[in-house]
Amino acid sequence: MARWALVAHGGAGVIERDQLRPEQDKAYREAMGRVAEAAAAVLKAGGAALDAIETAIQSLEDDPLFNAGRGAVFTAQGDIELDASIMDGSNLAAGAVAGVRRTRHPISAARAVMEQSPHVFLGGEGADAFARSCGLEQVDPSFFFIERRWKALARELQRQGLPIPPRPAGPPAALDTRAALAHDEGKRGTVGVVALDSDGTVAAGTSTGGVTAKRWGRVGDSPIIGAGTYATNAAGAVSCTGAGEYFIRLSVARTICALVEMKGLSLQAAADQVVQRDLTRLGGEGGVIAVAPDGQMAWSFNTSGMYRARIAEGEAMVVGIYKDDP
Ligand code: ASP
Repeated sequence: MARWALVAHGGAGVIERDQLRPEQDKAYREAMGRVAEAAAAVLKAGGAALDAIETAIQSLEDDPLFNAGRGAVFTAQGDIELDASIMDGSNLAAGAVAGVRRTRHPISAARAVMEQSPHVFLGGEGADAFARSCGLEQVDPSFFFIERRWKALARELQRQGLPIPPRPAGPPAALDTRAALAHDEGKRGTVGVVALDSDGTVAAGTSTGGVTAKRWGRVGDSPIIGAGTYATNAAGAVSCTGAGEYFIRLSVARTICALVEMKGLSLQAAADQVVQRDLTRLGGEGGVIAVAPDGQMAWSFNTSGMYRARIAEGEAMVVGIYKDDP
């Protein structure tokens, strides 16, 4: 039996110690720790990496602190368009959705594409229709509405000199109490989980609302297999967060796996090479988390912070936010 291991992220960006109030710092650490703990329980019980990932990402999608599911950023038109992907390292099966507006858990839609369709990537209305046909929960778009995200949209549109669309209906007030704890880490954010299960299989999943005020059906790296997400038992599993346009051009997730598989780099060295060297040179910002079939875990980011947690069999949980956290 392989030792199990899990790493999670809640997005990278401008996240500095003196910018977060103590209660915000606490809320993010608790959320990351809780989600990693729940996913670890799945692995501890002998569960599959894919199940641990889906469970964890569903919770993060439901938490308004993060830019995924409820809590996602708005498009320039005032809509929510969600992207997600998932990959199984044992057989390279993969599924992804882009631009979904009604499926409560985009990560489950991605998994359904992988397991219940002959395809890998579905987009827009078709992706929602497919998720609905698989019995996945559908919600009114107002379910995803978070006041602070609306304000961020208005600010961003004003900055770009674009018109502000009419305000959609709001969410239940109770939700905004938690959403008020959220830190504004920039225009972006994403959630992702990578896991190694006791069968020795690695998998990766990523889910995001994308970038504030996105236009023209913009899709980032998160739902692109090879860019935002990749998993192969020959090397490891990777989930990314950051400026998607750069991650796509560097095929970040696949490149990290290729460096491990073909050049024999350690997981951490491969992650650092792509993030600290290649991504930084190209002018992109963000971070990655990774796990290998032998239990190596890694993270690397070139932003001031990344919400993150990791836990493995026989190892205590580590939760971090800022660059100088362990
Ligand atoms: N990678 C995401 C995107 O470009 C955003 C992020 O992770 O911050 O859509």
